[in-house]
Amino acid sequence: MADILTVVEHRQGVVRDITYELMTFGRKLAEKTNAKLIGVLLGHNTDDLQEDIKKHVHRLVVADHEVFKDFNGDVYQEAISAVVKKESPFLTIIGNTAFGIDFCPSLATQLGIPFTTDCIGVEVVDGGIRVTRQLYDGKMDAHLRLAQGPHYMLTLRSGTCPAEDGGLSAEIEKIDAPLTSQPEYRRFIEYVEAAVGDVDITKADVVVGIGRGIKEQANLSMVEDFASAVGGVVACSRPIVDANWLPKDRQVGSSGKTVKPKLYIAIGISGAFQHIAGMKNSDTIIAINKDPNAPIFNEADYGIVDDLFKVLPVLKSKILEVKK
Ligand SMILES: Cc1cc2nc3c(=O)[nH]c(=O)nc-3n(C[C@H](O)[C@H](O)[C@H](O)COP(=O)(O)OP(=O)(O)OC[C@H]3O[C@@H](n4cnc5c(N)ncnc54)[C@H](O)[C@@H]3O)c2cc1C
Repeated sequence: MADILTVVEHRQGVVRDITYELMTFGRKLAEKTNAKLIGVLLGHNTDDLQEDIKKHVHRLVVADHEVFKDFNGDVYQEAISAVVKKESPFLTIIGNTAFGIDFCPSLATQLGIPFTTDCIGVEVVDGGIRVTRQLYDGKMDAHLRLAQGPHYMLTLRSGTCPAEDGGLSAEIEKIDAPLTSQPEYRRFIEYVEAAVGDVDITKADVVVGIGRGIKEQANLSMVEDFASAVGGVVACSRPIVDANWLPKDRQVGSSGKTVKPKLYIAIGISGAFQHIAGMKNSDTIIAINKDPNAPIFNEADYGIVDDLFKVLPVLKSKILEVKK
């Protein structure tokens, strides 16, 4: 079978975690289908990145040019389109991230390739592609068959496949940059790092995440008291930021921060995948939710199914008792 192709996602000289997940996933699928995994690295002065990535793929195609120094979706689309036309892979897998979603749909349209986004499972069935995607905030899985190929393209959700060491040593094939200037209509201007507020939730050992279950802003003080009793900082799901109850730098999730504390306590958070993406690598996760079917319990090491307004005062007084 023809090969599987993935694209390296990197920012400010650092390979993003999703790349290793894609490559692990791609390698496993390639092994099952007797194919090879090809990585594509677009960048400028990427020697270190090449040394790293070549351990994860069977072949690494590298285009090095100033035009790839900073990300521009339209530049990527043109360059990846040229590589896909040349390599003719059976399947192209890209991360379902701001990076992938920027250029992948128009790339697939440009190439006329059957395409879908945000997959959490992919199988090769009868020479075609069957994917699994989630519906209704993760409450239901849908299995879809892509229109018959011969080529396919999809984006894979972060967290679908934990990254593993590749143990490979790919040959590196350097190609000329398929384009050498940014289009007039879309230019990279500058990279702006999000501001860090008075509390940096990414550095805390204990993070108390709150969600829409806290009902109203007036209840924040109760949660802050609880967080200080456990020695943690307060973070939140996106609706809390949308309601202006907490600043954006406290949001955990795919469009917020990624946290990896020793302890994450999710209070009144349903566990939408966008939230899970930002906290799933916490050492220990405790969830408090009155709905026993809330998806957050799929991630939690410990769960309390009850009304948070009943649970928090009891938990706080027990913690203070133990601390005495
Ligand atoms: C492009 C995009 C990006 C996104 N990025 C993010 C992101 O970065 N981070 C993020 O969090 N979300 C993000 N979202 C939103 C995400 O899809 C969910 O809507 C959001 O995470 C839900 O927040 P929640 O769990 O607080 O609210 P809800 O889904 O409304 O859940 C509230 C939970 O509280 C529980 N509850 C209610 N009352 C009580 C009570 N008294 N006691 C105990 N439990 C109670 C309920 O059972 C429920 O499970 C994004 C969405 C999109 C489309």
